[in-house]
Amino acid sequence: MKNYINLFCIIKMSESLQVAVRVRPLNEKERLSSQSEAVTTFGKVVSVRDSDQAFSFTDVYGVSSTQEEVFSKSVKPLLENLFKGYNLTILAYGQTGSGKTYTMGTSGGEGRDAGMILKSIQYIFDRIEVSTDCEISVSVSFLELYMEEFRDLLASTHLGSNNPLDIREDGTGNIIVPGLTEIAVSNPEETLSWLAQGSQFRKTGATAMNVVSSRSHAVFTIKLECNHLDGSPATVSKFSLVDLAGSERAKKTGTTGERMQEGIDINKGLLALGNVISALSEQKRGRHIPYRDSKLTRLLQDSLGGNSHTLMIACVSPAAGNLQETVSTLRYATRALKIKNKPVVNAD
Ligand code: ADP
Repeated sequence: MKNYINLFCIIKMSESLQVAVRVRPLNEKERLSSQSEAVTTFGKVVSVRDSDQAFSFTDVYGVSSTQEEVFSKSVKPLLENLFKGYNLTILAYGQTGSGKTYTMGTSGGEGRDAGMILKSIQYIFDRIEVSTDCEISVSVSFLELYMEEFRDLLASTHLGSNNPLDIREDGTGNIIVPGLTEIAVSNPEETLSWLAQGSQFRKTGATAMNVVSSRSHAVFTIKLECNHLDGSPATVSKFSLVDLAGSERAKKTGTTGERMQEGIDINKGLLALGNVISALSEQKRGRHIPYRDSKLTRLLQDSLGGNSHTLMIACVSPAAGNLQETVSTLRYATRALKIKNKPVVNAD
């Protein structure tokens, strides 16, 4: 008999950080090998078979959840923040094959399968049409962090040896990437075409986990500049869609050589991200926040702390064979939920 024991984690929810968990359906390979579902969801709680822990999150989406449900419940309510001058970040976290790309829609998806990116872009342009207090201009950039180097996915030189980019902080605590290509866009189609173009140049590689798995972290940023009609200074807000590389341990992916080094770099970034998240949750005790421990955390500094609303979508597989990775993702996401961002100061 399945042994589900529900000990609820009591977690203080932060308004500016939300963590949703999505469990994907069993895939064909798992069904053919008669793998059972070892993860159950009930309300905002995820329970794991043979574990004495159950995990509670801002929102939980079970195996039959739809893209529309995830968008309308977790993403759409946050988008309005962009029009109030706040930054918004959505991070997809989880092992390779757990549904990050599908949920975000990073490599396409239409109709029922349309992901958070497409739906958000459509919402943003519809919302811009009805904006009465400012004229909004939109631009996009697309950055990849691969083997600890930033690559500009929209640069015309991306096929050659483009100069590695670096990041720095401006005087107001915002992270900027000097030289990063920013392209003005005026409608959803144009925005999506740049996303598709940049995605083609992402580093992918075959591992035992998935035929084409993301081996890099990628951040697609949509910048909204609001030029107020009353003449007050323009305000800028950033919408960052972060597709994190697979979180699985190198051992499970059966990798060697270059793939192994990629795995080490990926895990290093995610470990540093976990440490930053943990430090932020203990900020009251005056703990140092180790943003500088990795390029990933440096890049995400203004997305995780400060004037930003953040949604982490932790994706997990329901299969018994992935249980260990699933529990590890749930623990990681639980740690994230404890972040308490600084109070946001409204631009106006
Ligand atoms: P990841 O980006 O985490 O490596 P993918 O998004 O590529 O994983 O998902 C792996 C496979 O599972 C894909 O074929 C994808 O279409 C499918 N999949 C993932 N999540 C879902 C879901 N919620 N519903 C239906 N299919 C899904």
